[in-house]
Amino acid sequence: MKSAARELNRKSALGEMVRNLHRVGCIIRACRHTPARLSYPQEMRATKRKSQVGSGGEGERALLAQIRSRAGQSSQGRLRLGIGDDCALLRPRAGEELAVTTDLSISGRHFRLGWHPPESVGHRTLARGLSDLAAMGARPVAAFLSLGLPSELTRSTRGRKSKSKSWPNSWPNSWIARFLDGLLSLAEAHATPLAGGDLSESPLAMADIVLIGAVPRGKALLRSGAHPGDLLYVTGSLGGSACGLARLAELASAAGLTECESDRKRSLKIPAKAEAELAPHLYPQPRIAQGRWLVRHSAATAALDLSDGLSTDLAHLCEESHVAAEVDAGALPIHPGATLAQALHGGEDYELLFTAAPSTRLPKSIAGVPLTKIGHIVRPRSNRPQIALHTANGSQALEPQGWEHFS
Ligand SMILES: [Mg+2]
Repeated sequence: MKSAARELNRKSALGEMVRNLHRVGCIIRACRHTPARLSYPQEMRATKRKSQVGSGGEGERALLAQIRSRAGQSSQGRLRLGIGDDCALLRPRAGEELAVTTDLSISGRHFRLGWHPPESVGHRTLARGLSDLAAMGARPVAAFLSLGLPSELTRSTRGRKSKSKSWPNSWPNSWIARFLDGLLSLAEAHATPLAGGDLSESPLAMADIVLIGAVPRGKALLRSGAHPGDLLYVTGSLGGSACGLARLAELASAAGLTECESDRKRSLKIPAKAEAELAPHLYPQPRIAQGRWLVRHSAATAALDLSDGLSTDLAHLCEESHVAAEVDAGALPIHPGATLAQALHGGEDYELLFTAAPSTRLPKSIAGVPLTKIGHIVRPRSNRPQIALHTANGSQALEPQGWEHFS
C-alpha cells in the first residue's frame, strides 16, 4: 500500500514536473524578447545590440564580461584554454581518467530565494558537484555553470535608486554577483577554474553545474566494491545540514517568511549568532582532500558522498555492491544539536561514506576531518534487512528515508 502510494506520488510528481516544464517552455516562448542562447565564450564577441538587461543586449554582455573577468582571476594557469572561445580546452595528465558529473539546483526545490543568501546558493551549487568528485576520489579540473534567472536577480538588491542603475554600476549588489562570490570562493579553495557555461532569462531561478575531475586510471572510488567483512566509515559529522535547515525554517517563520517563491523580495536576515549553527547547511564542505587521500593510499573498497542521507545513500552502496550492512547507532558522529533521525535521513551533509578492508589501517582524521567507524558490511540474506540499525534497545531495519528526487 505504502509503495503504491509512493508510486502514485512519483507519477503525479513526474506529471507535475512535465506540466511545469511545459509551462516554463510556454512562458519562455511567449516572451517578447526571446532569450538568446548565451554561451559565455561565444557571446563575448556577440554583435552589437542595444537593449535592457535580460533581453540579449548590452546588459547581458556586461554581465558575461563580469563573469568572465571574475572566472579568469580564479583559473589562471590551470586550463589549457578557459572562457573566450567556442569550447574550453582541458589537458588531463598522463595516466588519468576523467570523472564527469552534473547537478541541477532549482529554486523552491533545492533552495529558497527568500531563505538562502545568494552566496550560499552559489556555494551549494558548486559544493554538490565537487562532492561527487570527492566521492570518486577525483581532483577537480574544471567547472561549467549554466544559469537560468529571473531578470530581477541580475539587478542591484539595495535601494530603489540603485535598481535603476545601469549594469556595471549595479553589479556588486546584485543577486548574481553575490551568487558568484559564494561559488568562486569555494572554487578557489579547491583550485577549480570556472571554464564556461550558459546563461538565460528564466521564470524560475535554476543553476546547473558540470564538474570535470581527474583520477589515476583504474583507481576511482566506486559504489560497487564493498565486500562482506569490510568496515563502514564516514568523514566528519552527520545531521548538521538538516539541523541547520530546521533552524533556518524557524528563523524564516519568525520573520513571517513563508516557503512561497513570491517571498524572495523579502530576504531573511540571518543573525550573526545563528551563522555557526547554519553553516553545515548553508556552506557544506566537499571532502575532496579526503577522497583523494583514499585513492592515493588505496584505502577504500567502495565510496559515495552523503547527499541524500545515510539511510538512502548506504542503500545505494549496498545495491551496487550486492551486500548488506549493519550500522551501530551509538557510533554515529551526530552533529552537535542534531537528532539521530537527522543524522540518519537528513541528507546534504556531503560527507563521504566508504568501506575498507578490516586489515586497512586508517588515521583518526584526514586533513583535519575525523573518520568514524559506524558499522560493517555483511552478506545479504533473505531473512535480514538490507541495512540493520543496532541501538541500545535492539536491532531494527533501517529503511531508506532520505531525499527522494520525485517524491
Ligand atoms: Mg553523489
